[in-house]
Amino acid sequence: MRIVFLGPPGSGKGTQAQILAQKRQIPQISSGDLLREAVLKETPAGKKAKEYIDKGALVPDEVVIELVRERIRNEREFILDGFPRNVKQAEKLDELLSKLHLPLDGVLNVEVPLEKLIDRLSGRLTCSQCKAIYHVKYNPPTKKGVCDACGGVLFQRSDDTEAAITCRFETYKNQTEPLIMYYKKRGNLITIDGTKAIDGISRDIEERIREHGV
Ligand code: AMP
Repeated sequence: MRIVFLGPPGSGKGTQAQILAQKRQIPQISSGDLLREAVLKETPAGKKAKEYIDKGALVPDEVVIELVRERIRNEREFILDGFPRNVKQAEKLDELLSKLHLPLDGVLNVEVPLEKLIDRLSGRLTCSQCKAIYHVKYNPPTKKGVCDACGGVLFQRSDDTEAAITCRFETYKNQTEPLIMYYKKRGNLITIDGTKAIDGISRDIEERIREHGV
């Protein structure tokens, strides 16, 4: 299965991508995680990416495309979370997958209204080790500050601040939202109501991808 998750910041696409990847036992590839790891390791890509991530802007296409290309090189099945983020990246992904004869099976677009997004982002916590995502109110860890899955320390992302969140929404509207039409035209788009509780959304996703023959 090869799936792309689309959705605004805070839509829960990362959480759902992790759940689906675990159920199907295939890798979840998050361009945000790849970039944050590169920043932590201070690789050349990470050094270029840091200022963009902190502002909430998109990292230059060539940097992200190279990281994703390298990561999916030896995978036949995967769930992409956060990539592509604009039409140029979507075209690159098409090009790459068509060379490998591995077409996308579907694009899941997780829809959530703006006011809910802000609430979700401001309480989000991520595991520093396994990248599991929590929320102080909607999906709290059993023990405060500690990951249920691996015992890692939970942290708040540096771009979950008010200024960066505003920029990330604008970036999403201007650059990422056009991808909805891009994939709709290709008959690949599956729209998911992202306002339900986590389990309800996962069930909807399973049902909808089955209907789609995935
Ligand atoms: P995410 O974890 O998907 O919310 O991404 C966090 C940040 O990483 C974004 O605000 C961007 O700065 C950067 N980023 C993640 N994916 C991409 C991408 N496909 N293209 C450009 N920048 C990205």
